[in-house]
Amino acid sequence: MAVIGHFIGGRPVSKGGRTGPVFDPATGAQSGEVELASSATVSDAVASAVAAFPAWADTPPLTRSRIMFKFKALLERDIDALATAITREHGKTLEDAKGEVTRGIEVVEFACGIPHLLRGDFTDQVARGVDVFSTRHPLGVVAGITPFNFPAMVPMWMFPVALACGNCFVLKPSEKDPSAALLLAELLLEAGLPAGVFNVVQGDKEAVDALLSHPDIAAVSFVGSTAIGEYVYRTACAHGKRAQALCGAKNHLVVMPDADLDKTVDALMGAGYGSAGERCMAVSVAVAVGGVGDALIERLAPKVRALKVGPGLDPDSEMGPLVTKEHLAKVSSYIDDGVAAGAELVVDGRGLKLQGYEGGYFLGGTLFDRVTTDMRIYKEEIFGPVLSVVRVDRYDEAVKLVNDHEYGNGAAIFTRDGDSARAFNRDARAGMIGINVPIPVPVAFHSFGGWKRSIFGDRNVYGMEGVGFYTKMKTTTARWPTGIREGAQFVIPTTG
Ligand code: NAD
Repeated sequence: MAVIGHFIGGRPVSKGGRTGPVFDPATGAQSGEVELASSATVSDAVASAVAAFPAWADTPPLTRSRIMFKFKALLERDIDALATAITREHGKTLEDAKGEVTRGIEVVEFACGIPHLLRGDFTDQVARGVDVFSTRHPLGVVAGITPFNFPAMVPMWMFPVALACGNCFVLKPSEKDPSAALLLAELLLEAGLPAGVFNVVQGDKEAVDALLSHPDIAAVSFVGSTAIGEYVYRTACAHGKRAQALCGAKNHLVVMPDADLDKTVDALMGAGYGSAGERCMAVSVAVAVGGVGDALIERLAPKVRALKVGPGLDPDSEMGPLVTKEHLAKVSSYIDDGVAAGAELVVDGRGLKLQGYEGGYFLGGTLFDRVTTDMRIYKEEIFGPVLSVVRVDRYDEAVKLVNDHEYGNGAAIFTRDGDSARAFNRDARAGMIGINVPIPVPVAFHSFGGWKRSIFGDRNVYGMEGVGFYTKMKTTTARWPTGIREGAQFVIPTTG
């Protein structure tokens, strides 16, 4: 059985101690055993990052950028190996896994521009003989705590920007699919990143708590569920750290009566069932406005029934298994709950067994109609291939649904009418809006983040928000001897 360890001080490290099982979701067979770091192991990783920090922070941004360029080339070289490692532990299809690596590469490309992004501000002659300039500086050692659903992309939302800004990084990936993080660490080293600048500690709550309370961790970025994210944010803040936590979601796609229904249905299929619905930007609610419900269900249902569910490594599969047996049971129980609450189960994905993969965690695509806002399947994030259709008469009722929900990650509208689209963009209380785009995950030079209980903290990830999060500003007021007036001054300096 492969033991999946940590990466500390520029090399793979095994510390023994507690471990947890890692499974292949397509077969249900255990594929490895991941070490779960103790707080002593976390301290080792932080110490190695602390030791590496002064030299890395002093490294010119252009040199850091060149390492990022090499890292990008290595990611492209090894994209198949990375994607295969992701599929084996997460279950998503290989093409989707490659897509996630590609979205991560886009953040690396953004980070390659760090010399430009870190350029400061200078004001000449704010007073006679006095100039002011502002510069951005790294925070020190920062931590990333990431979820199972994007084991390569979500860490790459964080560390390329953090490293390019001159910080050292300790990553605590999900214990469900821990291998991709180690491959990323190896590639960073090969790209020329000095030992200790990037470290990986595998683990669970013990490792997270050790990071949150460690005095040498300056900032924490978290992506995961709302309950854990709120805890991480509060605890990190209570320990005086800068923190951001990007959390759960329930993304609505509003279907207006004038929408192109065939295109809308294709969009719903990809956004509802891609990666088995295990995406924080998955669409889990379709809001059918003004009588479009019947036509929508008529077109959707046969496509959901025809979904090709299979192992992620099979090129014919459109949707892979869920991540764990426990998650399969949880998602299935939501379907039971929806039926009991009176929602109309149009397509039932429960009980799917695939020949040769009887132990796999497969669930078929599931479609509910006439879902109402009091139902648990509407209120809670299911994180599985379960799409709920809610019917409303008017646009303003659809917007009210989006706005009244506790989550506000993404929201989309499908329409041919520019006026409705513009109104929705202004009205919807969500951080990422799609206009005829079902999964509006911003490109790397914009920033990703939700509203309401989909985020804690005031900075999004990557883009300029990432540069802001991972740096602190220094503003210098400078005067040379010829400008110094005679004698002490006891009045606050003013310009002039
Ligand atoms: P999770 O909250 O269970 O785990 C996230 C991280 O927290 C993991 O590293 C895990 O080891 C750690 N963790 C788990 N329990 C902990 C505890 N009790 N104390 C401290 N740390 C703990 O999330 P998940 O199931 O891995 O991922 C799915 C969730 O992530 C969904 O809710 C999804 O919406 C969310 N997500 C959000 C975004 C976003 O950008 N908003 C992106 C991806 C995923």
